[in-house]
Amino acid sequence: MLSAAHAANQPADTIYRNGYVYTVDARDSVQQALAVRGGRIVYVGDNDGAQAYAGKKTEVIDLRGRMLMPGLIDGHMHPQSGGSRLLNCSLDYASLTVAQFQSRIQACLDRDKKSGPERWMVVVNWFQQGMLPDGVETTAATLDALKTERPIIVRSSFGHSALLNSKGIRTAKIERDTPNPAGGVITRDAQGNATGLLEDAAQDLAMNLLPPLTVAENLAASKAALAAMRQQGVTSFLDAYTDPETMTAFTDLQKQGKLTARAHFAVLIDLDKGATPRSAVAELLKQQKQFDQGPTRVAPSLQVRHAKLFMDGVISAPAFTGAMIEPYLVNKGTADQPDWQPGPHNGPPSYFSPDTLRATLTELARARIDPHIHVDGDRAVRESLDAIADLRATPEGKRVRPALAHDEIVDPADYPRFAQLDVTPVLSFQWGKPAPDTVGALKDYMGPRRYALVEPQALLLNAGARIAYGSDWPVDPLDEWFALKVGVTRTAAPNAGKEYAGRLTDQPGMPRAEVLRAITINAAYTLRQEKDTGSLEVGKLADMIVLDRNFFTIPAEDIANIKVLQTVVGGKIVYESEGMR
Ligand SMILES: [Zn+2]
Repeated sequence: MLSAAHAANQPADTIYRNGYVYTVDARDSVQQALAVRGGRIVYVGDNDGAQAYAGKKTEVIDLRGRMLMPGLIDGHMHPQSGGSRLLNCSLDYASLTVAQFQSRIQACLDRDKKSGPERWMVVVNWFQQGMLPDGVETTAATLDALKTERPIIVRSSFGHSALLNSKGIRTAKIERDTPNPAGGVITRDAQGNATGLLEDAAQDLAMNLLPPLTVAENLAASKAALAAMRQQGVTSFLDAYTDPETMTAFTDLQKQGKLTARAHFAVLIDLDKGATPRSAVAELLKQQKQFDQGPTRVAPSLQVRHAKLFMDGVISAPAFTGAMIEPYLVNKGTADQPDWQPGPHNGPPSYFSPDTLRATLTELARARIDPHIHVDGDRAVRESLDAIADLRATPEGKRVRPALAHDEIVDPADYPRFAQLDVTPVLSFQWGKPAPDTVGALKDYMGPRRYALVEPQALLLNAGARIAYGSDWPVDPLDEWFALKVGVTRTAAPNAGKEYAGRLTDQPGMPRAEVLRAITINAAYTLRQEKDTGSLEVGKLADMIVLDRNFFTIPAEDIANIKVLQTVVGGKIVYESEGMR
């Protein structure tokens, strides 16, 4: 701690007074004032104490009772696809009738007058399960009704299906005798003709024809992503599946002084193409050498310290690619009189066998790279915990900070293992609400016992797990405050419709303080940044946000409406709304 006399010799750059300064320190203490010098916090306490830091050039900001808290740390997102989708034709995850679906896409076609008849129109953020009325069919014909010569691809927000128009089907050379690719389905009608709907790996038949983003498009996508983050108060993030083009774009912005969040990148470990655990980690280290800019410092920079591994896909219908311990249920009755019974399969074999996962984790630990593992079903979770348990028994295995992302369903026997093995679940709280992808696409196929356990946020918390938050943007829109609201309430938005009213299952929500720790100090831990960020304490970086209302005193449903008035990164204001002053 600096003495008051010393402080007076070196005045602060900025003093915040009269606030509800929510620190997220070890006791979640609330203070009144905070002072910043050289990008770091030099004082947290009452107004009187802050006075000692005031100098002639000190800017004094009167918070007028507003809440100041640490900046949000998003522990799992995909900023480049998120940013580029902001630039695409977007259906905004909305529930649409066929007529609305058509008119929105027609409007995009009409706006884009430059593109010729061979240029793909890419439409994104299609909420396929939310089409109205329930169960309405969308096929190539739906798109063929539009006035255009161009091939069209409409991508579902979940990423598991895409719809083409007839020109798109021809351009992708999909014919009657085109076989389904491994891991994918070309949906066909009764005559065996492609309907236009492509599931999972079949999407590649069209996706591989889309030109990769140009350097300029990559740069625009990163810029758009950072702008969206600033506005919501995100001051650090993990890109949970990166590529050199993305890191190049963020490096360019960093050099121009336009990087407004601390950027962390996870490189994919993919053993499909003949790579070994050792060669895959060597490739990761090569990218680290090229893009990592060293330890956290005042100005935001790039860090490459994480590996991304996929253990499975997703547990929801129609994909069922989540690796489950017990089988998915199938309806052996009729639609009117359903009879849900265990079906023939429990999802694919995990994408890493137990042996390759162990070998890969060992290589990562030797290289001091933290594994960030996609696990959706309870079998994927268990096998990952088993491999981490073995890793923890080795000398090098103690130094990594493994994270298991998603964890949509976890067997209760595994809850305590997160704390025991020091594994952080990285959860997307917004999934814990009644919605087409939970009530509609999980309930029947899981059966009542397992359905009661889906999205086990508070269940893991109560078992002692350190819960971190990750938005997984753009699987959902980037809406951090809505997600935090759902973390507390487990309810959908008020306008979601009657069938989605009420809480998702009987599970409790998380306490508000724990929801905030998940998106601040706990996410900082997964980024090895908790000594510098994640709380407002003397010595830490001034990464913080001012809110337009108090997270703790407003009704829980109102948390979704919180607006960030000011975002500060390393003491520098990177975003301010009109309401701030
Ligand atoms: Zn993800």
